[in-house]
Parts: sequence; structure tokens; C-alpha cells
Amino acid sequence: MTQIDRRTVLRQAGVAAGLAAVGTVAAGAVPAAGTPLSSGVSAPAHPTPHEALTLLKEGNDRFVAGEMTHPNQDPARRKEVAAGQEPFAVVFSCIDSRVPPEIVFDRGLGDLFVIRTGAQDYDCLIEGSVEYGPVLDHTPLLVVMGHQRCGAVTAAVNALESGTTPAPNLDAVVQSLSLAYAVAKKTGADDLVEATVRAQIRLTARALRRDPALRPNIARGMLTVVGAYYSLETGEVSWQP
Ligand SMILES: [Zn+2]
Repeated sequence: MTQIDRRTVLRQAGVAAGLAAVGTVAAGAVPAAGTPLSSGVSAPAHPTPHEALTLLKEGNDRFVAGEMTHPNQDPARRKEVAAGQEPFAVVFSCIDSRVPPEIVFDRGLGDLFVIRTGAQDYDCLIEGSVEYGPVLDHTPLLVVMGHQRCGAVTAAVNALESGTTPAPNLDAVVQSLSLAYAVAKKTGADDLVEATVRAQIRLTARALRRDPALRPNIARGMLTVVGAYYSLETGEVSWQP
């Protein structure tokens, strides 16, 4: 079975199992509704997708301006969320050491579910983790965040442009970025890496909006999936609706 075949089969079979697995790990008491956050910038108890997005935008504004408040990073917050968590957003982003979501959004413990893979590429195992918050905890916001000068995208674009075979452990990443690459290539963009990054954000967000596990919450207005692009130079996150 090729790697792609295996991924497809796993994708079809593995999501429910993956959710069940993470559910047993993460089950626990959730802070009571209305519990104020212990420090810094407070979040409403059950934010709407819009309120959750506003919290991320405000946090990124503070980060860009160098005016971080580092909310929810003190021992009181650690104690508060030890009993249970109710993050207000899922951020699915890249492993890049320069793009840590809690820092670029100026948030703290218990605020975000974070999933990070090279070029925010996902397969069924990752899919289960992405779905966990919205499906089991009704997390209202799912952000797919790519970034400027992504190394994984650069490696994939170089391999696809030159027709060279990447190292075996990179092959899956290259294969899964090939659609974004093809979309970017069609645009005739000068900077193919940049265009592939942006296409990958759009395609991943679109795929997640169609995800059978997420669609019901999206249809009820309980969940919004948005694309985001992080600039390494300015620290700014720009949003794709
Ligand atoms: Zn990256």
C-alpha cells in the first residue's frame, strides 16, 4: 500500500477512533460557566465565534505593538485550569519556531487548543485533534494559520519544481502540498512559495469547513473556520474570511 493509499484509508477509518482516544485523555471537569479568567484579558464564558476571533485579533495587535499583557500565565491560572479547560479557539499552524500561537496571540494557559505540523499539513491523526475541540468542547473558532517563508512549503515547492525526490520522511508533506502548489502555479505568481503558502491556508480551511464532523456546528453558527497568514517580519496576522 502506498503512503497516499494508506493515508486515504486511515482518513476514512480513523477519525472516530482518534476522537475517542483524545476524549479519554482530555475528559475532565470544565470550569463553571461565567468563571472569570484569573488575570489579564478576560474572555466571556461561552464566546461566540466573533468574540473568539476578536480576542485573537486584540492579542495579535498587542504582540505587534510590543504591548503584550501575557494573560493567564500565572500560578493562579495554572491552578484554575488544572481542574478542566475550556479553550476559546483551536489554532492549527506550522511547527516553525518563529510562529508559536500562544505568543503571537498573547494568550496563556487554557486559552487555545494548538496543533502544529509542518506547513499545517494534516492527515487523519491530525484531523482527529483538530476536530476534538469543536466536536467535544464546542470550541467556537478554528484558525488555520500559515506563515511567511515556510520552510516545509519551500522544501515542497523546490522538490516539485525540480522533480527531485525528497527525503522519505518529507515525501508525505510534499505530496500533500502538491495541490496547493498546483493552484499557486496556475496563478503565475512570481513568488511560488508565498503563493503556495496562501493556497495551502485556503485549501486546508476549505477542507475543514467540509469536514463531516465539523459541518453541523458550522451550520448552526457555533463554529467558524478562518484562514490566517502570519508575517515573520511584522508579527502581524492577516485574516482570510
Ligand atoms: Zn512553516
